[in-house]
Amino acid sequence: MSDTSPSEERTSRNFIEEIIERDLKEGRHKSVLTRFPPEPNGYLHIGHAKSITLNFGLAEKYGGETNLRFDDTNPVTETVEYVENIKQDVRWLGYEWAREKYASDYFEHLFDFAIRLIRDGLAYVDDSTSEEIAAMKGTPTRPGTDSPYRSRTPEENEDLFHRMREGEFPEGSCILRAKIDMSSPNMLMRDPVIYRIKHAPHHRTGDKWCIYPTYDMAHGQSDAIEKITHSICTLEFMPHRELYDWLIDKLDLYPSRQYEFARLNMSYTIMSKRRLLKLVEDGIVDGWDDPRMPTISGLRRRGFTPEAIRDFCTRIGVAKRDNVIDVSLLEFCAREHLNKISLRRMVVFDPVKLVITNWPDGEVEELESENNPEDESAGTRKIPFGGELYIEREDFMEDPPKKFFRLGPGRSVRLKSAFIITCDDFIRDENGRLTEIRSRYHPESKSGSDTSGIKAKGTLHWVSITHAHKIEVREYDRLFTVANPSEEADKNDGKFIDYINSDSLNVVPVAYAEPAIAGDAPGNYYQFMRKGYYFPDKATTREKQIYNRTVTLRDDWARKSKQGK
Ligand code: ATP
Ligand code: MG
Repeated sequence: MSDTSPSEERTSRNFIEEIIERDLKEGRHKSVLTRFPPEPNGYLHIGHAKSITLNFGLAEKYGGETNLRFDDTNPVTETVEYVENIKQDVRWLGYEWAREKYASDYFEHLFDFAIRLIRDGLAYVDDSTSEEIAAMKGTPTRPGTDSPYRSRTPEENEDLFHRMREGEFPEGSCILRAKIDMSSPNMLMRDPVIYRIKHAPHHRTGDKWCIYPTYDMAHGQSDAIEKITHSICTLEFMPHRELYDWLIDKLDLYPSRQYEFARLNMSYTIMSKRRLLKLVEDGIVDGWDDPRMPTISGLRRRGFTPEAIRDFCTRIGVAKRDNVIDVSLLEFCAREHLNKISLRRMVVFDPVKLVITNWPDGEVEELESENNPEDESAGTRKIPFGGELYIEREDFMEDPPKKFFRLGPGRSVRLKSAFIITCDDFIRDENGRLTEIRSRYHPESKSGSDTSGIKAKGTLHWVSITHAHKIEVREYDRLFTVANPSEEADKNDGKFIDYINSDSLNVVPVAYAEPAIAGDAPGNYYQFMRKGYYFPDKATTREKQIYNRTVTLRDDWARKSKQGK
């Protein structure tokens, strides 16, 4: 990547970097080849972003390469749509793979590997039912017992395995198992399943196969075929490493090695594709890219930037023990980046009319203001100022307390990029609702050339009523009411629906924006001044602009939850 990510500035190394540097120094590898291996059974989420930045980041740091490999060994749950979205998400995050690979590319290879194991007496076809197999597995403290089919001859096994491939047997009637050790302390080494029958078409190989390798039979072998040097996965695969090494050793393949790091868990969200799919299927969210989803596509639609996500992944580092990262860190990273790149615009959400009583009738002055004070190259925009404006209803109080630096009778405030005004009067309707605020402006107080000498503590955003552009705004809150929805759900029969925050979406049907927004090119990131960061939703059109709130300007969740909101 061209920009300097914080990882490049960091001098301390994580444990995987230490391993790689040692391997390069000792000549075990001349260069680094990593892979990112998603199963195309859902959309990528922020946890996958951690794995992506790690795999691609390591290759970048050590001048190596990364393959994108689809781990597509379960035809029942995988689709081309998922494949395409995964590719889009990886690219959007800023990475380009050296090769696009599929475990299904290797089905023929993997079949041959299985035949070799069978001929070497290291695999057998087992006709036991899954219940029988489970019962024979033993427990971590009690060894398993041998299946009656364990002693089949290589010839018989080879014949049966070919017939499995030919589709002679129904699903579940038999499986191929590696013949390892039924008393191993590692349960996965107790003759693990390496092939199963599935009479289901595959999104790439169609009807060609009706037997599919398991994760263990496919993953390490695919790594070895591609000559992956460092195969990095999450901690739950630690017990699989022994089997990974066993298969590579028995098949005498390229010695890829597996290394494990702690998966990313984040508060107030769930990170399992299976559970995210349920949210989609049950209509709790508006698809995989709902802006409240922790998916990459959801974060993108909400207005998070790839830079912010990469920064987040770098800051959390690479851990060896599971932990939960506070979602507010991701939001912090978003603010950091959006502050630098977003265009500033004024938008009034809950308007009240402000009349400038001494403004010349019908006159409009085009004020000029910076698009982004953090970035001069972003240029300026024109903001029309006239005699009738909208300001935010909450920015006025009839009888304000001392610390209220906004508007009230006799008080002065600055209108952002415009003039200082002083409130003389206000009007309420018969129900007591404020309908109009009447103020004078001070002609010498114009922003940038203020010679008025008038002091105004507060600055308010505003829009000219006749020029205001109506937009819809969608404000999002946490999707879950508890910090650890997955754990809570595990205790509750897997039902996480009970912890959905029913107030996680608030639609503001009409907000009033300064007119510049109507003419902006699509795809800009915005700061609505004093409100937060916003991004146009995918459903936005010229006629109807819809903006998603990415994050508020400050972290007010911590404060709200302390008050027991
Ligand atoms: P899920 O449980 O969400 O379905 P998965 O592990 O089954 O996730 P894969 O598509 O198999 O999803 O994952 C691709 C890669 O991303 C794997 O190497 C996996 O270890 C890694 N990965 C998945 N979830 C996380 C996470 N939360 N944090 C870090 N890496 C992850
Ligand atoms: Mg997986």
